Amino acid sequence: MTTADRSFTADVVIVGAGSAGCVLAERLSREPDRTVVLLERGPAGLPTPADLDLRRLPIDDAAPHAVRHDTDLGVSAARGSALGGSSAVNGGYFLRWHRDDFGSWPAGWEPDSIADAYDELDAPVRGTMGVGPVPDDELGDAGRAFERYWSERAPVRPMTQRWPVVGLNRVLTNRRGVGRRSAADAYLAPALSRPNLRVLTGHTVDRLDTARATVTGVRAGALGVSAGEVILAAGTLGTAGILLRSELPGVTGRTHARSLIAGEHRGLAVSYSRRSPADAGMVLPTVLHTDEGLEIRCYRDDFATYIRGLPASGPIVEVTAMRHSPVRIVADDARVRMEVDEPDPDTAATLRTAADGIVDMLGAPEFAGVVVPGSVRIADRAGFSQHAWGTMPMGVRTDWLGGVSGIHGLRIVDGSILPGSGRSGPHATIMMMACRIGAVLAQR
Ligand SMILES: Cc1cc2nc3c(=O)[nH]c(=O)nc-3n(C[C@H](O)[C@H](O)[C@H](O)COP(=O)(O)OP(=O)(O)OC[C@H]3O[C@@H](n4cnc5c(N)ncnc54)[C@H](O)[C@@H]3O)c2cc1C
Repeated sequence: MTTADRSFTADVVIVGAGSAGCVLAERLSREPDRTVVLLERGPAGLPTPADLDLRRLPIDDAAPHAVRHDTDLGVSAARGSALGGSSAVNGGYFLRWHRDDFGSWPAGWEPDSIADAYDELDAPVRGTMGVGPVPDDELGDAGRAFERYWSERAPVRPMTQRWPVVGLNRVLTNRRGVGRRSAADAYLAPALSRPNLRVLTGHTVDRLDTARATVTGVRAGALGVSAGEVILAAGTLGTAGILLRSELPGVTGRTHARSLIAGEHRGLAVSYSRRSPADAGMVLPTVLHTDEGLEIRCYRDDFATYIRGLPASGPIVEVTAMRHSPVRIVADDARVRMEVDEPDPDTAATLRTAADGIVDMLGAPEFAGVVVPGSVRIADRAGFSQHAWGTMPMGVRTDWLGGVSGIHGLRIVDGSILPGSGRSGPHATIMMMACRIGAVLAQR
């Protein structure tokens, strides 16, 4: 072990100030006698309102608050790199999972405790994340056509209801005005003045320090932090990189020395040309959840209008299989990348059938004022959703509070420990998980 140029000691070190890490830092530093160090690779300072504008996805190569990981699909996987993590750059869709999506969660996650933790985040008025439905006047013409079409054919979630339905779900969004309300705004900012919380930005953790089967701290270049407990909250890709570089016994993949298997949501895009330019607004205002476990996402416009430098390819409606499709996360000393194969034949066939249905939808009278006739096209290959999760699932590789099996002093609390796939996106559920785990740990 080399001697660090700078070193700190704390009761707890949390790696990653993202969706989960901000919640944990706030919860664990409420007790003034507990010293907490929060290490983040992104730059100092909270992202500004301009950075958080929901009418942009600030994940291009030059974006100050994002990093990109290579994949073998030719499309990179973006992640937030900021105080707030991916919550500072994401689409601002904040839907709970369905009530019956928690079957694979271990004991400790009873329905009432899950509902209470979601309420903390998204309850009207008192919820911390400022969550509400996308207003009618922000649906856009594609969103309005989508809702007119499906409201004749499927159940519709009442606007005031927080739990999603199989049917049409107006997106719930975490926001302040036109900006994302990030996990850092809601949780970290109010805790920053606490003397027992030290936030160190611009530090990328390379690996864990270990002594036999005990983790004793982390190392980030010349910086070392020793702690009674290390909590990895670096997101599924970041945490995988740290685990794999640390070569912990029982963590490294069996067939590939430095790989872990995650789940992704695979989707097939149906693109079209618009008759007239779309007005500006958040990227995804409305979705349909089907009883085959698909999420049909009606994006408001071409992704090129949201992501600087992306070539125009037309607005899309995407059919996405909300099931565990495996991807491999591979790390070397410097980088983490994702290997993405074709989806399995059943998923591929399900996506194709649903995409054919969307072609019909885009030809229906509801879309006549939006879609240029003859312009509709199904993508050749399935993409992925920037959601990778579940490399270290609770109940299998960790306990219900993220404590890593067989290793002392190490806990993981981020997308890595989701034990299954929900039928909605992961953001609200990762934060819900952090709220509950943080509350239990704070009592210890
Ligand atoms: C572009 C994009 C759009 C998305 N849109 C949505 C959406 O609209 N709705 C939804 O439900 N989900 C969405 N997601 C997914 C969702 O945002 C993430 O699943 C969720 O935020 C992950 O939370 P986390 O705490 O696991 O990780 P993150 O929020 O990613 O936090 C990880 C933090 O750890 C830091 N970090 C990583 N490695 C290291 C290291 N080695 N050392 C120090 N720090 C490190 C990172 O900089 C980051 O701040 C989107 C994701 C992306 C990337």
